[in-house]
Amino acid sequence: MKKYNFNAGPSILPREVIEKTAQQILDFNGSGLSLAEISHRAKDFQPVVDEAVALIKELLQVPEGYSVIFLGGGASLEFCMIPYNFLIKKAAYLNTGTWAKKAMKEAKLFGEVVEVASSADANYTFIPKGWTCPEDADYLHITTNNTIYGTEIRKDLDLNVRLIADMSSDIFSRPIDVAKYDCIYGGAQKNLAMAGVTLVIVKDDALGKAPRAIPTMLDYRTHVEKGSMFNTPPVVPIYSALETLRWLKANGGVEAMDKLAHQRADIVYSEIDRNKLFRGTVVEEGDRSLMNICFVMADEYKELEKPFLEYATAQGMVGIKGHRSVGGFRASCYNAQTIEGVNALVKCMKDFEAAH
Ligand SMILES: *Cc1c(COP(=O)(O)O)cnc(C)c1O
Repeated sequence: MKKYNFNAGPSILPREVIEKTAQQILDFNGSGLSLAEISHRAKDFQPVVDEAVALIKELLQVPEGYSVIFLGGGASLEFCMIPYNFLIKKAAYLNTGTWAKKAMKEAKLFGEVVEVASSADANYTFIPKGWTCPEDADYLHITTNNTIYGTEIRKDLDLNVRLIADMSSDIFSRPIDVAKYDCIYGGAQKNLAMAGVTLVIVKDDALGKAPRAIPTMLDYRTHVEKGSMFNTPPVVPIYSALETLRWLKANGGVEAMDKLAHQRADIVYSEIDRNKLFRGTVVEEGDRSLMNICFVMADEYKELEKPFLEYATAQGMVGIKGHRSVGGFRASCYNAQTIEGVNALVKCMKDFEAAH
């Protein structure tokens, strides 16, 4: 039976990305060697990094003065690298969920941290509004998409401070105005590549200002200067990122992904709002994530949670169980998610309603 992959991360990638990466793992560029067994300094590999960087700059229209690098350690390592490299005295953080909170925790090791707003008291079911950011903050850190709670800031905020954003789970799903950010980062395993690589886009002249010694590997300048080749980069995940980037370009780039994201999300949210059995956990329409669509059973149908999960699983839905801190269900709809996939999920919801 056909499976529909709604995993939150690692998650769905275009089939051709998997296939092409698999081919290169067997025989890299006809060399008779595997991509997994060549030197990252081999002359054939540098073009992979170069093309990936060039495509990222093209797809996101990265302005002059920014570097694109690939690192290890996941988005979680960036939580400490950000303050290490950018926090001079005071940093501001918008607390919109588990990942934002983890990022803030690391920043506190380096200086004063101001939480500009939080929706923790409401289990992060909305994006806080009406807050202000101290003008003397070195940066404001935001999490553009809250993968666990299904909220999203799907615009580039206009503020009086420099922005730094964790875009792990919505990067390449819409155009972004990179010029507003000193740094954009993301673990690649949600929307870009196989797990194991982190993408960082950093403004060159924002570096080197923090008044502290930075260990070599944690200093962005090291990786900028060496073009992500200071030490062995994650070769296979970077290759898979390249294939995803080629796929993105061939499929209309981030504008097309944005349009598709709206189409998919409209289909699923409309059904959640229509179907008497379900209710969305994020009520405010503008806060609803287009990437991670969270819903629970309506109060009077609580006992149907497990049966629905079993039913949907039997129909081929994979990974729709909600995160344990929210419960219910989460349908992750990253770039490679198809309209066919979300229609299959909606059919499950309708058929299950009809049977109850
Ligand atoms: C998954 C995720 C992370 C953690 O990423 P790792 O690469 O596992 O460290 C951080 N932030 C967001 C928004 C995420 O979705």
